[in-house]
Amino acid sequence: MSNNFDFASFYAALARAGLGKWQSQFTAAIEQALTKRDGNLAAWLAALQELPDLPDALCNLDQAEVTAGNPLSADSPEFILLKTALLRLKPWRKGPFNLHGVRIDSEWRSDLKWARVAPHIADLHNRIILDVGCGNGYYLMRMAGAGARIAVGIDPSLLFLAQFTAVNRYCRQDRAFLLPIGFEQLPEEMQCFDTVFSMGVFYHRRSPFDFLRSLRMLLRQGGELVLETLVIDGDQNTVLVPPDRYARMNNVWFIPSAEAMLTWLAKAGFADARMVDLCKTTVEEQRCTEWMPGESLEMCLDKNNNLTIEGHPAPARAVFVANRP
Ligand code: SAH
Repeated sequence: MSNNFDFASFYAALARAGLGKWQSQFTAAIEQALTKRDGNLAAWLAALQELPDLPDALCNLDQAEVTAGNPLSADSPEFILLKTALLRLKPWRKGPFNLHGVRIDSEWRSDLKWARVAPHIADLHNRIILDVGCGNGYYLMRMAGAGARIAVGIDPSLLFLAQFTAVNRYCRQDRAFLLPIGFEQLPEEMQCFDTVFSMGVFYHRRSPFDFLRSLRMLLRQGGELVLETLVIDGDQNTVLVPPDRYARMNNVWFIPSAEAMLTWLAKAGFADARMVDLCKTTVEEQRCTEWMPGESLEMCLDKNNNLTIEGHPAPARAVFVANRP
């Protein structure tokens, strides 16, 4: 197993949160996931090795820029070492982070999404949280900052695991964890999470109702689902299934209207489904930077018509909250 990642502190936290009985399921899922080879893994592990040891200092997980450590001077050898190693983990899609003064200005201003979500959800204090498709774990840090008992993120991407490992090297959280697994690997019997987040994932799923069922089964009774996804204008019967790409993404399946999504959530067995935010995605929120130099939203839009370059409605995103009865 090509594994320099250490999950011992996760298992300890799992036990502390009263979830020790699920350790073997998590271990099996992680071991299976890590058999998947990624040709870039050696380079990412090498970048992690190059991260400098720096003195512990306070972190702030409660502001837009997830921040750890005292700022180093930009011409100090440690600053240059740190920035060079972090840049080797490009592309940074989610952020922003500030690690000892190195500002990771990611493609997405994930803080803007968190600001749209956070006011509308159950208080995260002391909650047991799962974030399905958590990216590099930016939101896990914000959840820890909001007082989560444990925030478990799952995402199959080993790059995102490497980025999270780098960030947490300096944030030193013992309540936020990223596991490199897919939601399909978690057993339905788990049903133990107080809040399940899934943001920016739904439209990538081929089988939306199976996905909603999986999310519901991971919640305890009365637990809360927070689902963020692309939507289009329309009524209860409107859904866009792009025949080909959507905003240059080739794995987009279902983009419902908000009304259709509410109906789907009810049909999938959720109670009290409501939309709490609706917002057009702007090029201020998603753009290329030094940390993600590839193509970003601007190149995917036909600005004159408020359409994507394929002629679909330009991206708008909604946040839905619902409960497991
Ligand atoms: N939640 C983040 C990231 C969304 S991008 C945000 O809102 O910004 C979608 C993520 O889903 C990607 O990071 C991708 O790796 C992850 N993903 C893909 N398949 C998955 C699966 N089967 N289980 C969990 N996550 C998955």
